[in-house]
Amino acid sequence: MTHATGRGTGRGRLRSAGAPAGASPPPTPPSLTDGRATLADLKALVARFVAERDWNRYHTPRNVAVSIVLEAGELLEHFQWSPPAPDEMTADRRQEIGEEMADVLAYLLSLANVLDLDLSAALEAKMRKNRRKYPVEWCQGHWEKPKEPAGGTGGE
Ligand SMILES: [Mg+2]
Repeated sequence: MTHATGRGTGRGRLRSAGAPAGASPPPTPPSLTDGRATLADLKALVARFVAERDWNRYHTPRNVAVSIVLEAGELLEHFQWSPPAPDEMTADRRQEIGEEMADVLAYLLSLANVLDLDLSAALEAKMRKNRRKYPVEWCQGHWEKPKEPAGGTGGE
């Protein structure tokens, strides 16, 4: 998000005993990981962040949809000129890319909250459609859109 994301900077926290003066505190391990968090957890995290700041009035569907695209543009900036291959990315670059991906996700989750939309159900339904639209037997190993067979696929 272009405004504060609520992440702690570590400032104001007590330095652990024995750490040299001026040293950064060790990073806080995440309490949420892809393997442990549910989409409901993430939607609640974003909803709490917005509500705590009384920003619900700004999180209209239009504003949030625009913000998704703006943050996607910030993500794209990382790949604009000479994008490094994944194995050539520095840790700093990976962190910056992760932050932009988190911005996109936060706004996507906020839009789901605003619209009271079940994102998991929407994804599952869309992937079902995509499976019909791109059957493995026609699409494996190439990206071209398949020609619709006689009788159609029923997909969109
Ligand atoms: Mg951003």
